[in-house]
Amino acid sequence: MTSPPTSTPQQSFLHRHLGPSAVEQQQMLRTLNLTSMEELLEETIPASIRLPQDHVVRSLPPNTDEQQALAELKALMGRNRTSRSLIGLGYFGAVMPAVVRRHVLENPAWLTAYTPYQAEIAQGRLEALLNFQTLICELTGLPVANASLLDEATAAAEAMGLSFAVCKRPRARRFLVDRNVYPQTMGVLQTRAEPLGIRLEVNAPSAFVFDEEVFGVLLQLPDGQGRLRDPTELISAAHACGALVTVAVDPLAQVLMAPVATFGADVAVGSAQRLGLPLGYGGPHAAFFATREHHKRQVPGRIVGLSVDAEGRSALRLALQTREQHIRRDKATSNICTAQVLLAVLVSFYAVYHGPAGLEAMARRVRRLTQAMAIALAQVGLPPALKPGFDTIVVETPAAANILERCRTAGFSLRVTEDGKGLGLSLDERSTVEELEQLLALMAPGRVHPPMAELLEASRGELPVPERHEPWLQQEPFHKYRSETALLRYIRTLAAKDFSLIHGMIPLGSCTMKLNAAAELLPLSWSSVAELHPFAPVEDAQGYRVMIRQLQASLAELTGFDGVSLQPNAGSQGELAGLLVIRAWQASRGQAHRRVCLIPTSAHGTNPASAVMAGLHVVPVACDPQGNTDLKDLQQKAAAHSDKLAALMVTYPSTHGVFEVAIREICTIVHDHGGQVYLDGANLNAQLELCRPGDYGADLCHLNLHKSFCIPHGGGGPGVGPIAVAAHLVPFLPGHPLLACGGEQAIGPVSAAPFGSASILTISWMYLRMMGATGLRQASAMAILNANYIAHRLEEFYPVLFRGEKGRVAHECILDLRPLRSEAGVDVEDVAKRLMDYGFHAPTVSWPVAGTMMVEPTESEHKAELDRFCDAMVAVRQEVAAIASGAMDRHNNPLKRAPHTITALTADSWDRPYSRQQGGLPGNQDPAEKLWPAVARIDNARGDRTLVCTCPSVENYAERSTV
Ligand SMILES: *Cc1c(COP(=O)(O)O)cnc(C)c1O
Repeated sequence: MTSPPTSTPQQSFLHRHLGPSAVEQQQMLRTLNLTSMEELLEETIPASIRLPQDHVVRSLPPNTDEQQALAELKALMGRNRTSRSLIGLGYFGAVMPAVVRRHVLENPAWLTAYTPYQAEIAQGRLEALLNFQTLICELTGLPVANASLLDEATAAAEAMGLSFAVCKRPRARRFLVDRNVYPQTMGVLQTRAEPLGIRLEVNAPSAFVFDEEVFGVLLQLPDGQGRLRDPTELISAAHACGALVTVAVDPLAQVLMAPVATFGADVAVGSAQRLGLPLGYGGPHAAFFATREHHKRQVPGRIVGLSVDAEGRSALRLALQTREQHIRRDKATSNICTAQVLLAVLVSFYAVYHGPAGLEAMARRVRRLTQAMAIALAQVGLPPALKPGFDTIVVETPAAANILERCRTAGFSLRVTEDGKGLGLSLDERSTVEELEQLLALMAPGRVHPPMAELLEASRGELPVPERHEPWLQQEPFHKYRSETALLRYIRTLAAKDFSLIHGMIPLGSCTMKLNAAAELLPLSWSSVAELHPFAPVEDAQGYRVMIRQLQASLAELTGFDGVSLQPNAGSQGELAGLLVIRAWQASRGQAHRRVCLIPTSAHGTNPASAVMAGLHVVPVACDPQGNTDLKDLQQKAAAHSDKLAALMVTYPSTHGVFEVAIREICTIVHDHGGQVYLDGANLNAQLELCRPGDYGADLCHLNLHKSFCIPHGGGGPGVGPIAVAAHLVPFLPGHPLLACGGEQAIGPVSAAPFGSASILTISWMYLRMMGATGLRQASAMAILNANYIAHRLEEFYPVLFRGEKGRVAHECILDLRPLRSEAGVDVEDVAKRLMDYGFHAPTVSWPVAGTMMVEPTESEHKAELDRFCDAMVAVRQEVAAIASGAMDRHNNPLKRAPHTITALTADSWDRPYSRQQGGLPGNQDPAEKLWPAVARIDNARGDRTLVCTCPSVENYAERSTV
């Protein structure tokens, strides 16, 4: 490869990633009364933990430009052998419609949105997610579905958790699992059952023994061998002893099969991957979870629900436990924060694209091809070992190894059964008569069989279980957008309702909504990245393996640790994995009795929820009035629980946005009492190449690649939450039943795929390659400068709640809005909604302190945007002052009535005591540039009283149009 000419500053990626120019940096430093960036860093980061400035990262080459980085990654991923995969086991070939790929997957409007907490400017993806929920409810026949879990295996574990939580019999600890569920699901169930004291019993369903102690059952349809059996009797038997039954279903089989609810299932889970999502060497994919009305409050993750807005329209927002999750902390139903929103959105459009008729035709075709193939195989001397249920055929033959190799050479990946004697192949949407002919010739060379086309003609495609007979998926969105023109416009209409980084900054504290550069995202569309099965033979995944090793090495070095697991699919999953690693290490030293987890009260809600899932008892630690961990309280609690102390979970810099000076001391206290220090690394963006958790005393941390390392938020997922651990913990990093990974004494898997959402790791790889260590250092410094600039500009209007010893904040700051309440009756919520009128997405609201806003500008926002935001915040403060002084009405004012819709502003009548312009176009905005909220303020309480989480049916539409 010839090296490109040395890049100019204009071409250098670093200069594009950083918002402020050199001149702007100087201006901002001057505003802060500083002469250099170095001076700022000295005032911000305790000297006791600073890395030397000449620190080198051996695992990161010097930064390079976009073209060079892309060329390198292309060459690397070219070492993958992407064959046509028929491996199955929960991952199937699928085709993403081009219109969906181009306008959703590759569209920053969808990619760069945040989790839809500010629902008035998120109606587009909320509608797409409602479509997803509707699809799942219609498929399974269950009335309540959430908008996605992380993968099928964790969804099954969540179902086990729900069944356990709702069971009222204290001695019921047995969970019965069909021994033919996918191995990765079994693995994750085992990981998750043990800490909760659940006894997992794996058996053939015919051998299940039901009694009082059984609280739940998991079946799979079709099972891991491809069998499809009517579960009605088994489910009745389980219900007779009071157990809940979860069925893992294949969404395409479920199109033809009677909905599992009609067989009696209480919970249905599964992966929606085959509904149009690329394999991506394991993910990301959206999993689904549906259940009965009765359990709606225990559903993990997020449910989108219907409510109304202040002007009487229907409007969508996140329902029920979404809001409760952070408040309930250790009583949360799950630790899920980031879900798979983007993937669920893609699946929803896939369903809209095909409609029920298209999905039925596809599923029937897969079924008929499978039947035809089974007959043909029998005729060439390879009779299927079992009657194929839907799409999977298993044959037993002494020639298995030879056949596998022949197919491999010709570009097909088949699966070897666990006993090594059989071959499995799963057909899918991409299967054709020609492909099957080719396979037959490879599997039984020279043997004759009737032409596949004839066999296909003869097969009726019936299922061995009761089929679906009722019409389904009759809701409008699945019928209305059949032509590409119509669908394109539908996608655009939804996207146009949502605020994302294409509109302006999303200053979300703790969520690091930085640039997701186009060059970082391009590789996702390469077939060498998209088309590899997670259980492909290691020699087929050489490119991925090297990329993963490089990323692991860099992340280990950047955090100051020795080993990394990329398996967890979100920060929350990293927390769980990390705590389980700690417990495994302690158990290996005869200290399994250490079960107390200290967590500061300021911690993110996932921390206590994860601790509980890891089987730990949460003991809160207080914060002092300056927002720092209360050392006295920590000392006292650590001492009180000394013999039982497992760990402290601490966020650094703290969730209060401060580099606590005492961090080393905190770690020492915990170590002195035999505990491990778990560092929540969500705030890594403040410290990369400035200080390292491994150096200042932590034993392990998780990272959020979807925050600090540029994976786009996707409107609420996907995420990657790797853990980095010190040497003594490396042997315990999570493993996987189907592929060697993790440590020598690995804990079980925490995700279905060995490397989690492997395909999006390319984004972080690109980021690191284009930034290099120097670039990362500049990015951290810039993030700190931007945050301090905002803190400085706004402090006279809103008190900055917490600062470090020398008066500086880290990469975010907390603004205190509580005084507005007594002064003018204005709540932080009113300000969040009012910011929409000014063309902004609100910062993090009421976390970690109620009544405050946490602002994190990131390094990617330039000075003009920071100023625009500050100007808006100042203008809002003046509006509050006007209310306080009586110049504006206390109830009927632009804050209380925000956000303002175009409908309200352009209505013939206007009866508010302020002008239309003041309401809808405050602060000299250009109306053509503004994102107009699609709905007015949404009534949350009303939506929770009656949960509606599916699209209105056609009949409902008809009813409504007559009233
Ligand atoms: C985002 C965040 C988490 C959770 O990460 P997810 O990827 O959403 O699961 C945990 N702790 C803190 C401080 C965070 O900001």
